[in-house]
Amino acid sequence: MNLHEYQARDILRRQGIPVPPGDVAETPEQARAIAERLGGGVVVKAQVHAGGRGKAGGVKLARNPAEAAAHAAAILGMTIKGLTVRKVLVAPAAEIASESYVGILVDRASQRPVLMVSAAGGIDIEEVAAQAPERIHRLAVDPRYGLLRHQALGLGLKLYRDVGQARAAADIMQRLYAAVYAVGASLAEINPLATTPAGAVTALDAKVVIDDNELERHPEIAALRDSGGEAPSEVAAREAGLTFIKLEGSVGCCVNGAGLAMATMDLVKFYGGEPANFLDIGGSSNPQKVVDALKIITADPGVRAILFNIFGGITRCDDVANGIVQATRQFPLRVPLVIRLTGTNEALAVQILTQAGFSALTDMDEAVQRAVAQARTA
Ligand code: GDP
Ligand code: MN
Repeated sequence: MNLHEYQARDILRRQGIPVPPGDVAETPEQARAIAERLGGGVVVKAQVHAGGRGKAGGVKLARNPAEAAAHAAAILGMTIKGLTVRKVLVAPAAEIASESYVGILVDRASQRPVLMVSAAGGIDIEEVAAQAPERIHRLAVDPRYGLLRHQALGLGLKLYRDVGQARAAADIMQRLYAAVYAVGASLAEINPLATTPAGAVTALDAKVVIDDNELERHPEIAALRDSGGEAPSEVAAREAGLTFIKLEGSVGCCVNGAGLAMATMDLVKFYGGEPANFLDIGGSSNPQKVVDALKIITADPGVRAILFNIFGGITRCDDVANGIVQATRQFPLRVPLVIRLTGTNEALAVQILTQAGFSALTDMDEAVQRAVAQARTA
């Protein structure tokens, strides 16, 4: 689950990381009031679940409350990476002497939290990672011991020659590490970790991604979810108990099992198509899930063909077939449907589908090729 910057800032602040104050506005007038209360120059920042806001024009400095209101008016309603800005953060503008990067992510390869730091922080960190990876220092942390002081200090000295600043950065890294465990994060990032001309080290941007599997243990974090900031189809899928990720392609995929869903997406790409989504209808046998899934997929205007790929095990093919028939009775499909199913109760499923006027395939390659072709001609 993604959090907004202002929520991530609160989490960092609670761990004792120096983060400037600030408040959230949903209207230019609110932004003006916050700027008045803070006094002096402020920064107005789009709160959307996307990086690169600075480059997209979603981060603006204002010298006074009137300018803050004007920037808020421009930023609210703006779209950044397909997401509409509904809130802005108004915070005191910091004077920046240098920008570093500090991040912790759970690395599956080393099966450990990995701390990454770079003195080349700021808005071009992705380019640094791609073109000068040696400027990013990594440390895999042994979770049994946590991030030790000497390790954090060693990394702090990669960021700052000044020992006081290196110590401050080390302190921030240890607190960020604690934050990861406190909220169940899979990623926690500060970029920029800025120094001011006076020498203070502060976090000016924060990104925290929560591991969905941790939400049950952290109801106070789960309550931070902003469904308005997510793709509507993903919200609907979550409510229906489906594992769904919206993608940009034209072949809607309805598959049982995450592994088969990924294999299906690979094959769609292999045959020259683009999947419109990742969807795992799960291992259970429930026609309603198929109805919900079809509703979500057909609501996506980018979908040109729908591919069912079902390997019947615990999921019974006849249940899926019934779900398809029920769904198409409830709402007409505006795109062609290609069905591949094999396994438990396959013969019964074919009978149900044939009676309802559908045909079904058993070969996965053939089905995928057909769906890709239909998406192209539709
Ligand atoms: P991002 O582009 O989505 O990562 O948004 P950031 O919050 O990191 O802001 C982008 C850039 O705006 C930063 O790298 C800074 O250079 C600049 N910026 C952000 N906050 C401030 C601030 O308080 N003062 C100044 N001078 N620049 C800021
Ligand atoms: Mn940033």
